Amino acid sequence: MDAVPTTRLAPSPTGGLHLGNARTFVANWALARQHGGRVLMRIEDVAPTSTTTTWEDDVLGILQWLGLDWDGPPLIQSAELPPHQQALNHLAQQGLVFQCSKTRKELVLVTAPQEGDFEARYAPELRPEPPWPRDPQTAPAGFNWRVKTSPGEVPFTDEFAGPQSFDPHREVGDFILWTKRGQPSYQLACVVDDHRTGVNMVFRGDDLLSSTSRQILLSKMLGWDSPKWWHVPLVLDEQGERLAKRNKSIRLTELRDAGVRPESILRLLAKWCGHKDPKDVDSIQDFLEGFSIDQMPRTPVRCTQHDLAELHER
Ligand code: GLU
Repeated sequence: MDAVPTTRLAPSPTGGLHLGNARTFVANWALARQHGGRVLMRIEDVAPTSTTTTWEDDVLGILQWLGLDWDGPPLIQSAELPPHQQALNHLAQQGLVFQCSKTRKELVLVTAPQEGDFEARYAPELRPEPPWPRDPQTAPAGFNWRVKTSPGEVPFTDEFAGPQSFDPHREVGDFILWTKRGQPSYQLACVVDDHRTGVNMVFRGDDLLSSTSRQILLSKMLGWDSPKWWHVPLVLDEQGERLAKRNKSIRLTELRDAGVRPESILRLLAKWCGHKDPKDVDSIQDFLEGFSIDQMPRTPVRCTQHDLAELHER
């Protein structure tokens, strides 16, 4: 028998969720529920956060206010580190990870001194001399751990975006798995938690397409299958920029506090999802009934001033 379809909502508590985040979560939830699937909640709080947003109120509370539900208690990544540690150990025993003391500035100087702001690539010539520590717990603390990558495309078929292929070695080189702050990186935490909670559907913004090849690579190194993927275009503002959490006018908590009704937001999200009857959506159930992944726009949708004004009118 096939495994139960299982997805996860994986918010990072880095500032209030905005309308673009909400659109991805609501579509993700609807797709899973239409397949009779489970929806898990995971708070991705291992990456550095620069705000004091509390996930209890600003993340879970606001998603419940929209009508979303999930199965079981939320998984708080930072509270359960042993499985991530075990995965790191497993890779270390195979000689696939090493400790790195290089700063970002040093990486940029070696790999692309002319370039401005971009994800610094860790080139093979920067690797320390082997042997590399096989037991991370006995190695000195305070360093990043990186995974050794080799040249090669990592192709996959995205259920929404179609065939994709990225070469992690060429794009980012040896990427970080464990940070000097003593926590897993987003890439490792994501792969480990998807695997151990039985996630077999991942639905998220297409800004994470290239991360998917990194995650497939890690899963293979750990001997695990990868989930199926759905990557959807992001919502853009009128200037064509990604919606930013610092823009208060699109934040869900600000909208709620200004008296906007959740059903008004659902109607806007429905419109952005290509929903059959966005104007008739009065609840998350209505959203679910008229949602079809085949109608989701294939290109980025725009959040216009008119959209925002309408939210406040209804
Ligand atoms: N935590 C990420 C975000 O809020 C999502 C990562 C993922 O879905 O893998 O954008």
